[in-house]
Amino acid sequence: MNCYYHPDKPAIGLCKHCQRGLCSDCATLVDDVLACKDRHEEQVHEFVELTKQNILKSKRTSSDYVRNTIFYASVGVLFTVFGASQIKWLGLQAVVYLIIGLALLWAALANYLESRKYK
Ligand SMILES: [Zn+2]
Ligand SMILES: [Zn+2]
Repeated sequence: MNCYYHPDKPAIGLCKHCQRGLCSDCATLVDDVLACKDRHEEQVHEFVELTKQNILKSKRTSSDYVRNTIFYASVGVLFTVFGASQIKWLGLQAVVYLIIGLALLWAALANYLESRKYK
């Protein structure tokens, strides 16, 4: 394959934007990605930025769910254990704690399952 702009020169790679072959004179690196020099640098840069943002977004969402899982699970266990241990003395009030605890554990499970989607 030869350079799109210099048919007599061998290409060293493809522009990320237009997929044309580029020789060492026409190619330039934008964020470690090949682009047509003075032609598609801007477009490739935008493309790379967009890809980076997408990766960051999904990472952030995944760790958010993991954090929620840990939070809900620990508070849920506290409420459940407290409710279960106090049920003889507090009666209905302890049942309410127990229900809150189980609801939190359920939320933890839901967050855990959600976080698995992003792996
Ligand atoms: Zn190009
Ligand atoms: Zn060239």
